[in-house]
Amino acid sequence: MHHLIILTGFSGTGKSAVGKAVAARLGWAFVDTDERIVQRAGKSIEAIFQQGEAAFRQLEREVLDQAVSGRNAVIATGGGAFAQEDNREVMLAAGIVICLEARPETVVQRLFGGGATEQRPLLAGDSAERLQRVRRLKAQRQPAYAQAHWTVHTDLLTVDEVAGEVVRAWDTLRGKRDEGATAPSSNGDIAAIVHSSAGPCPIHLGWDLLGALGERCRAAGLRSTAYLFTDSNVGPRHAAKAQASLEEAGIPVHTLTIPAGEASKNLDQAGRCYAWLAERRAERGHFIVALGGGVVGDLAGFVAATYARGIPFIQIPTSLAAIVDASIGGKTAVDLPAGKNLVGAFHQPRFVLADTALLATLPPRELASGWAEAVKHGLIMDETLVHTFETDAEAILGLQPAALTGALRRSVAVKAQVVTQDERETLGIRVLLNYGHTLGHALEAATGYGVLLHGEAVAIGMNAAGIIANRLGKLSDGDLARQTRLLERYGLPLRIPRNVDLDAVFAAMTLDKKTSGGRQRWILLDRVGHATANNEVPAELAREVAEGLVA
Ligand code: NAD
Repeated sequence: MHHLIILTGFSGTGKSAVGKAVAARLGWAFVDTDERIVQRAGKSIEAIFQQGEAAFRQLEREVLDQAVSGRNAVIATGGGAFAQEDNREVMLAAGIVICLEARPETVVQRLFGGGATEQRPLLAGDSAERLQRVRRLKAQRQPAYAQAHWTVHTDLLTVDEVAGEVVRAWDTLRGKRDEGATAPSSNGDIAAIVHSSAGPCPIHLGWDLLGALGERCRAAGLRSTAYLFTDSNVGPRHAAKAQASLEEAGIPVHTLTIPAGEASKNLDQAGRCYAWLAERRAERGHFIVALGGGVVGDLAGFVAATYARGIPFIQIPTSLAAIVDASIGGKTAVDLPAGKNLVGAFHQPRFVLADTALLATLPPRELASGWAEAVKHGLIMDETLVHTFETDAEAILGLQPAALTGALRRSVAVKAQVVTQDERETLGIRVLLNYGHTLGHALEAATGYGVLLHGEAVAIGMNAAGIIANRLGKLSDGDLARQTRLLERYGLPLRIPRNVDLDAVFAAMTLDKKTSGGRQRWILLDRVGHATANNEVPAELAREVAEGLVA
């Protein structure tokens, strides 16, 4: 068994102090790669950098190779080590890699506040520039950090508390690695990996990835017959490319196109899918490919979870909402007349392949609705992502490949991280993803599903939650205004349509599962990038805020 914990993360996230504390708790050795580099070179990191970054990286690689060959050790690595693909591969294969996270403001405070004088070659500059530099460098490295096996957010924790979290992560993950969960591949397009009891599920996200489908299936050990499920909007546009890619990889494929829309997500349609599979003699070794939005993903995933007691499936989400939300986490379901998603199962896809180029054919309103979920991930736990959505808005909204892909990789990583930490929604972490949903769901239910798109209802719900948090003195005026500007910039509604019956909305809210013990459960921000659950919002305040939001 590998007894190695490797800490990664940006400078100032506490890797050395935490590493020492973890090593002490476990009775293991502690290795600080930066210290070893200094010893080996006989000069400071800054002096090595003066010879060029390449010289430093070379030394770093040698020290790292030596460190990971040991056992029973906690290794703290430099902030940039994990961003190098070859290092990353070595680290992920050698032990459990845990990323320590901190907000850029926290990083700056820790590195430069209170008279700290440490030299950080890549962060040199005057104080006004520092925050910007930290943000930029951290954003560049974030797609790499997202590939760690686990992440601990350190902002509000002491070194000892972070050490406790690291030990807990080690305890949770080591069995899974030993059971044969393979080390993630080094594909540069992996935005995140969901680790669940079913094993790791990589989320591949990139521009124009669909053509790689067949090859990715083979790499994941899926080589027998594929059953491609798609819908009547997506199929004519994108199914041929998916089919061709599978066939080129020597994988026979049958395609079933279901009518587009939520009305297809029911047991009748599932029954038709089962019959279609049975006619083609689908069996356990075969697999399902879901090519479409959340409706296709949920239906095909449910069919995969139940046909022949479960066969493998992969998700190719084609709507923005499905890329950042529905395809990640292994929830599958169909609707009953009595309510949405009432029959379902947890069934993790083998992998998710998100091709951002497919968004070019998504209707604009569906696209806007998807932004609500994408920015929500930033609002609840990633201030840097919010900053990216703000500063790169034009390029992101224009679907420019690099900006779009960069922002979505990060948004996806938030969901993957949350789902990994709270697979079955038992720890109260996954619930934070319901930001905007308390009012949002009730609005959807009361207006009849389909009047407001899900993301539109969630945006109105986030606006209401923001105002409530502000009125309760939890969220500053500045942060509320920042959220408002962001939602507006991404074309999202903030107000409740005039014809909506608020009594019906509040009745729906009371019936909703987000009510606990008769109290509405709200997710509230205490700042941009940080959310908590709250059962103490007075019903009168919620009502008053909702009334004030009627257009
Ligand atoms: P959807 O699947 O109905 O897609 C929206 C519309 O866009 C459809 O008409 C679809 O045909 C079309 N479309 C999708 N991709 C396209 C493309 N690239 N080009 C052209 N048209 C395209 O809806 P959705 O918003 O993707 O997902 C909503 C569903 O997801 C709901 O049923 C919801 O319950 C479910 N959901 C599931 C989870 C989960 O964790 N499983 C999470 C959130 C939502």
